[in-house]
Amino acid sequence: MNIKPEEITSIIKKQIEGYDNNVESVDSGTIIQVGDGIARVYGLENCMAGELLEFPNDVFGMVMNLEQDNVGCVLLGNEEGIKEGDIVKSTGRVVEVPVGEAMIGRVVNALGQPIDGKGPIKETELRPADIVAHGIIERKSVNKPLQTGIKAIDAMIPIGRGQRELIIGDRQTGKTAITIDAIINQKGQDVICIYVAIGQKQSTVANIYNILTQKGAMDYTFIVSASAAETAPLQYLAPYAGVTMGEYFMDQGKDVLIIYDDLTKHAVAYRTMSLLLRRPPAREAYPGDVFYLHSRLLERAAKLSDKLGGGSITAIPIIETQAGDVSAYIPTNVISITDGQIFLEADLFHAGQRPAVNSGISVSRVGGSAQIKAMKQVSGTLRLELAQYRELASFSQFGSDLDNESKRRLEKGKRLLEIFNQDQYVPMPIENQIMVIYAVVENHLNDVDITKIKEFEQGFLEFMSTHHKEVPEAIITKKVLDDEIKKMLGEAIEEYKKVFLA
Ligand code: ATP
Ligand code: MG
Repeated sequence: MNIKPEEITSIIKKQIEGYDNNVESVDSGTIIQVGDGIARVYGLENCMAGELLEFPNDVFGMVMNLEQDNVGCVLLGNEEGIKEGDIVKSTGRVVEVPVGEAMIGRVVNALGQPIDGKGPIKETELRPADIVAHGIIERKSVNKPLQTGIKAIDAMIPIGRGQRELIIGDRQTGKTAITIDAIINQKGQDVICIYVAIGQKQSTVANIYNILTQKGAMDYTFIVSASAAETAPLQYLAPYAGVTMGEYFMDQGKDVLIIYDDLTKHAVAYRTMSLLLRRPPAREAYPGDVFYLHSRLLERAAKLSDKLGGGSITAIPIIETQAGDVSAYIPTNVISITDGQIFLEADLFHAGQRPAVNSGISVSRVGGSAQIKAMKQVSGTLRLELAQYRELASFSQFGSDLDNESKRRLEKGKRLLEIFNQDQYVPMPIENQIMVIYAVVENHLNDVDITKIKEFEQGFLEFMSTHHKEVPEAIITKKVLDDEIKKMLGEAIEEYKKVFLA
């Protein structure tokens, strides 16, 4: 080889020119204690609250406590193989989750990783999981209904898009069932649904996935699951991850429905984490900021202003009570954060009233703007009638003689309750609900035997869709029951009744 001296100098010169004195500096620290999914790290000087830390073995941690000489963090993965003295690197990022269209139809964990065995999720971007919710100026009032397809709810406790409505009740009272029906009912309504399962059995979540798939609801739904087998930090993170994925759609002007099933277990997971981090326990051993835990989550449900695209997130959190006690700590917190609650009662459930909605103490504070006018017209007096019915029913138990007016009220109340009895997985379109409730409210069914009401309802709706299609169609297009529709509907009911009673 023959290299000339000039060439050597030019190569050296080039290298000197290209030399970049860039030492990468990473804030790092050492673990001083690890156990129970918690680690204390010494030496992370510029650490932020909520920051993601990189532990050995590709495990990540989230910073919860910033203390004088160490930071306390929770591990988001397996702590096996992580020991005292190991090096921890800061990432400069807060906890982020992937978001995107590709989520739809999938089941993911609290970190957004797929757990349904259908391969990786493509085309996603990362977003911080815990952000500050939209302010007042960026919002507008709720003006569009979100129909659940459940008569008792759409008629008496209507939910609007952008609202937060709590479902509260003892265990096994049909809380989850209502939300699953609500998701099934969003078919063709242009609503993206997210079901966040917190601390549930994996088999329960798998069941829900199967039902939603069968009903074709997974085409617009995805599930975020942190099951009971997963660590408390992941259960804590799951609802924030879910709402972050929902915000991606809301920001595009779309409507989103998100279910948190349930926030009682979420609070328990947070309590576990907090106690392990040695935060001071307060009422019921929850840390002092457990209200903030849920308020900052539910505040992210919103109806955005037109300037921001008009998208919305409707949140339905679930709370489990013990023996109907709504005055415990977590139930009262979430009741006061939400815009209303649907109260499910174990007694009603066991008496066969399903969904077991107690209409007396269930409310939706968003009010009429969440209902179409036609529904408002037929449902206006329902609460009062049912309240009167309950009073009379308890009175008539004593076998006293009732006057005719009271008897009539009693009979009508029974028919209303019978109509509000609804099976699972068969949400009813709003026009059908209106026709059925109209029939009872306008006293058309007083001479139909109480045991035949369900049969009548089914036959009547079939009759309407085959012989009088114009009536439901008119209700949908006009959205109000004018004299013409009322006349057509009244006549059709009587026409079917003749056939039915014959
Ligand atoms: P958990 O506290 O265990 O989460 P839950 O309150 O969510 O219970 P679900 O699981 O929804 O209750 O329902 C309890 C049982 O009642 C289920 O077996 C469900 O199939 C049944 N159920 C719920 N709603 C209805 C209904 N409308 N008609 C008939 N059965 C129903
Ligand atoms: Mg449930």
